[in-house]
Amino acid sequence: MSRSHELFEAAQRHIPGGVNSPVRAFRGVGGDPVFFERAEGAYAYDADGKRYVDYVGSWGPMILGHAHPEVLGAVEERMRKGLSFGAPTEVETQMADTVCELVPSMEMVRMVSSGTEATMSALRLARGYTGRDKVVKFEGCYHGHVDSLLVKAGSGALTFGEPNSPGVPAALAELTITLPYNDIEAVRETFAEIGSEIACIIVEPVAGNMNCIPPLPGFLEGLREVCTEHGAVLIFDEVMSGFRVSLGGAQGHFGVTPDLTTLGKVIGGGMPVGAFGGKREIMEHVSPVGPVYQAGTLSGNPIAMAAGLKTLELISEPGFYDRLTATTSELLAGLRERAAAAGVPFTTNQAGAMFGLFFSAEPVTGFDQATACNQDHFKAFFHGMLERGVYLAPSSFEAGFVSIKHGEAEIQATLDAAAEVFAEIAG
Ligand code: PMP
Repeated sequence: MSRSHELFEAAQRHIPGGVNSPVRAFRGVGGDPVFFERAEGAYAYDADGKRYVDYVGSWGPMILGHAHPEVLGAVEERMRKGLSFGAPTEVETQMADTVCELVPSMEMVRMVSSGTEATMSALRLARGYTGRDKVVKFEGCYHGHVDSLLVKAGSGALTFGEPNSPGVPAALAELTITLPYNDIEAVRETFAEIGSEIACIIVEPVAGNMNCIPPLPGFLEGLREVCTEHGAVLIFDEVMSGFRVSLGGAQGHFGVTPDLTTLGKVIGGGMPVGAFGGKREIMEHVSPVGPVYQAGTLSGNPIAMAAGLKTLELISEPGFYDRLTATTSELLAGLRERAAAAGVPFTTNQAGAMFGLFFSAEPVTGFDQATACNQDHFKAFFHGMLERGVYLAPSSFEAGFVSIKHGEAEIQATLDAAAEVFAEIAG
């Protein structure tokens, strides 16, 4: 019996499903989750000592690769000064200055401890600022487990078939309007009808929670126009795409400016960090300057700030994103080639260093196509790759990530494994 299996059995005694976040369970693909022991660079090692090329990277944060010595060094140094104060520290200002410099639409920013907190706070702020209650989101987008946003949600909610979670009061869910991603006409029609009641649109500017679906040309631009016209707040949820699609996030890459932005994942370099920010005029409605309440005992934790700041410093080096994006393109081209050689219908999406793998003959530009992909092929691919030492997200509704430590050797090993697995799938 494997150590992972033993650990999973033990974990289930006191932890629901044996995991502290549902996407870690292998519910979408079957089998036991792998328990990890340590990780370094592009590799993660499980409790049985098996090595994997890791394309999950803690679901996005590990863009520098695991256990980067400079990030660990920054954490160690900061840690010795005390773990938390609940009072302001200089490193929080350094973080705010850095974020506002890298993402110019953010004139002010508040740090929180998760992506969920960031979107929850941004939503409350948009409602408080506009005095309106309704919010627009898109089917298959996931914005954390915020009550108002667990409506037709993506990620684990979609994988486990519960996009509308029990426990969210119907009275609250009624205020959430869900529209099809990449369908700007649906947005225009909704705003033409009830635009004056809508506080905000929240969108993943590159969808990463129904697999990876980039915006169609004109979609983000259209959202910007509609929000400006109707006085609604445009929120880009860049928890995943921020510092991932490009250094300036999806907004920098596509050249569309939101009113508010939410960040997470990369900004903490693997520590629990999130942030929301944007136009000064809106952010000045946040407590203690304004009346919209938002707070956090551990917000801006100095150790987490140190890890995040060092990460932001290292990803700002010239050429970083060119290399990361080129590696991602090379991986995807290689996978498409090998699938074609085996005769398996397969396509990929890419936005910077974010990617999606689809068992589909057609391009995937929306929720309906993403959910119509061949699930059996995905499961077989996932398990075949896992067996051969390649760790992919255990769901067909998640994006994948490379790190700067993924080089020729890791890509080649991945493609060699994929050639064998595609051949097995083709039968
Ligand atoms: N927004 C997006 C776009 C995300 O991808 C996620 C997490 N995958 C969240 C919000 C929630 O972040 P967290 O899990 O840190 O609460």
